[in-house]
Amino acid sequence: MPRPISVTISVSALAHNLAVVRDHLRQAAAAASAADGTQWVAPSIWAVIKAHGYGHGTAQGVQGFAQADGLAMLDLAEAIECRESGWAGPILLLEGVFEPADLDLADRYRLSSVVHCREQLDMLAHARPDRPLDVYVKLNSGMNRLGFAPDAFRAAHARALDLRKQGILRGVGRMTHFASADAPAGVAAPMAVFQRVAGDLPGPVSVSNSAATLRYPRIALARPGEESWVRPGICLYGASPFADADAASFGLQPAMSLRSRIIATQDLRAGDAVGYSALFTADAPMRVGVVACGYADGYPRHAGTGTPVVVAGTRTRVLGRVSMDMLAVDLTPVPAAGIGAPVSLWGADGPSVDEVAQAAGTIGYELLCALAQRVPVRTIA
Ligand SMILES: *Cc1c(COP(=O)(O)O)cnc(C)c1O
Repeated sequence: MPRPISVTISVSALAHNLAVVRDHLRQAAAAASAADGTQWVAPSIWAVIKAHGYGHGTAQGVQGFAQADGLAMLDLAEAIECRESGWAGPILLLEGVFEPADLDLADRYRLSSVVHCREQLDMLAHARPDRPLDVYVKLNSGMNRLGFAPDAFRAAHARALDLRKQGILRGVGRMTHFASADAPAGVAAPMAVFQRVAGDLPGPVSVSNSAATLRYPRIALARPGEESWVRPGICLYGASPFADADAASFGLQPAMSLRSRIIATQDLRAGDAVGYSALFTADAPMRVGVVACGYADGYPRHAGTGTPVVVAGTRTRVLGRVSMDMLAVDLTPVPAAGIGAPVSLWGADGPSVDEVAQAAGTIGYELLCALAQRVPVRTIA
């Protein structure tokens, strides 16, 4: 019998979360139209499924986001997997191409790509695609990760328009990415840079990760006939981009549930310790459960005593240091739980992945993406 750990991916939760985001944008468009007396329309949605759908699986992402307007990722192999599994809509490579041969794949599989540097424009200038390619020229609006600096952007965009004249390109869009949309700094400063540098240029626009989509939906609204796209990722998986607001408060549902079982129990006396380095010591007699889940499954080793966990439907806490294959939990609030008792590490009937991440000093994104290969995956409708 395999270890009792498994992860369940809910395709309907992915679809639900996409619908929640769509609804949120439509409501923002309706509110803005009513306030101004002019028409605003909701943007299209690139569902971001990079990193194998944030650890949920590329195939599961393609299924769950069937109603998305496009899929965005950065690995060419994942993009091709989406195409080959039947996704016929737009696909956007968020980091663009890495070498000239990638442009042949972009042509063959109809992949749109970001152009964030001069070298990518040079590659395009030498490309001879069978059909012209679609690109987004990326502005570095202050994050200083990818993109043309504000004083170089317009020349880069003009070069892209020139490549369109030559028949190498078809669509030439503009995009930027926000560094602090989840924080008090918000999006005002980078949006001001974007508007100043690229606001008057033609073509589609793409701004807004999950945090900006949820908190500042109005910045991505379009006028009728204009093309605007948001790029939510984490919220589509039912986790929160914010430290100060949980996913449930937006009506999002966790799509990944990590579950296991208790495989041993121990009765501690006062003064007995648990696990490596004896990080937890009982101050009174207590029962401890040993769960088949450790850091080799993707559970964070930095999650210490007090990290929330649910045993047989009751919320309790992790004790001591997480091992490679096991962790210990406090059975005080669940005296009836013994070997075989179900344990929810995170997800639908457990704590949220964001709570576990916070206890471990990280964010839900990292835990979802770091789910280990060895954990058996069950996909449910
Ligand atoms: C990852 C990513 C996103 C999505 O970010 P979330 O915070 O997960 O919503 C959007 N745009 C780009 C360029 C990204 O790399």
